[in-house]
Amino acid sequence: MEFELSDEQLAYQDAARQFAAGEFAPLAAQWDENEEFPKAALAKAGELGFCSLYTPESAGGLGLSRLDASIVFEELARGCTSTTAFLTIHNMALWMIATFGTEGARESFCPKLASGEALVSYCLTEPGAGSDAAALKSTARQVDGGYRLNGTKAFISGAGDTDVLVVMARLVNAEGVQPGAKGICAFAVDARSEGVGFGRKEAKMGWNSQPTRQINFEDVFVPESHRLGAEGEGFKIAMKGLDGGRINIATCSVGTAQAAIDQTCTYLGERKAFGQTIGSFQALQFKLADMATHLVASRQMVRLAAFKLDRGHADATTYCAMAKRLATDLCFDICNDALQLHGGYGYIKEFPLERHVRDTRVHQILEGTNEIMRMIIGRRLLIEGASTVL
Ligand SMILES: Cc1cc2nc3c(=O)[nH]c(=O)nc-3n(C[C@H](O)[C@H](O)[C@H](O)COP(=O)(O)OP(=O)(O)OC[C@H]3O[C@@H](n4cnc5c(N)ncnc54)[C@H](O)[C@@H]3O)c2cc1C
Repeated sequence: MEFELSDEQLAYQDAARQFAAGEFAPLAAQWDENEEFPKAALAKAGELGFCSLYTPESAGGLGLSRLDASIVFEELARGCTSTTAFLTIHNMALWMIATFGTEGARESFCPKLASGEALVSYCLTEPGAGSDAAALKSTARQVDGGYRLNGTKAFISGAGDTDVLVVMARLVNAEGVQPGAKGICAFAVDARSEGVGFGRKEAKMGWNSQPTRQINFEDVFVPESHRLGAEGEGFKIAMKGLDGGRINIATCSVGTAQAAIDQTCTYLGERKAFGQTIGSFQALQFKLADMATHLVASRQMVRLAAFKLDRGHADATTYCAMAKRLATDLCFDICNDALQLHGGYGYIKEFPLERHVRDTRVHQILEGTNEIMRMIIGRRLLIEGASTVL
């Protein structure tokens, strides 16, 4: 068992740290305040390969492992949580097209997505189907040469500003509407296709550097070659994407909590109360100690889950759910505690703590809520013998 990063991993980490410090951190507060989607910064990230970290090289990606990718995402999130979180969704959806797409779909979409010239959204959730995603109602009706998509997707990150949509929809064929998870197909859809419409930009608590919108599909034609995987495999593909997505989101929480702790260490050494720096109060040292311990535990859990996914471990999904649950809960608490240790200044926008709290809060909700993560873990544990193999 090796816990140290390799020289190569240290080099990726250093490149990402420098990029985040130069291109993300100085503008993160402005992007948040102005609700600005920083496409130019994302394109620069693409130049370094950050838009296609674990996409296979054959599809134009860097072909890194999930573990390597998590090291990069963590550093980027230290610079801007919300922008990095979008970048992770882009990486996930691109990986789905590169892995499950036909040659035609790969050629149409992957080069520009891998380089960051174009961006992609992941469209699973619907107004009436979030946690119970397999209950989705959007349809893909079989027609000559392809499918016609109809329905509405909700809460889609990047929607309205992205070029490609990975869409999960229910197959309707000669036998009628196909029920359950096995009736779902996945598609890569050009966001400018006729019949694609976008709702208003949602006003959100955090994640303000990326837009979130509903998407309506009205008889949108998708060629058969743009289906991902076989008919009926769409839900499985969507969940495979999310295994990695959950590691990514957890990593964004870890990077943000690291930034919050860095900021807090500085502040405890500077701020004075009762004639001494507040860092000399043992109560605050104990709080800081717990924050750092929880940070390291979160990071190691995320890296373990990434390792399991890289190895194709049979319980990788369970580990990804554990990592997402643990890291997003603990790291949200770290950011909130960091805010508390800054006193009133923590609540003021001049400091980044309140943004860290707002940005990490949603990580407990999306890509499967933390209740759903517990459901995945609990169900697995109740299978005979599972508690001893995990
Ligand atoms: C900012 C933002 C960005 C998003 N981006 C995307 C995106 O890009 N693509 C996409 O497809 N989706 C996206 N989502 C949607 C997100 O994944 C869903 O909001 C999430 O899965 C929860 O679904 P829901 O909102 O319908 O909540 P519901 O499913 O209605 O859940 C409501 C509450 O009930 C709990 N609950 C539900 N079922 C159970 C159960 N069986 N046991 C215990 N508790 C349960 C939930 O945990 C939650 O607390 C985004 C959401 C947000 C807020």
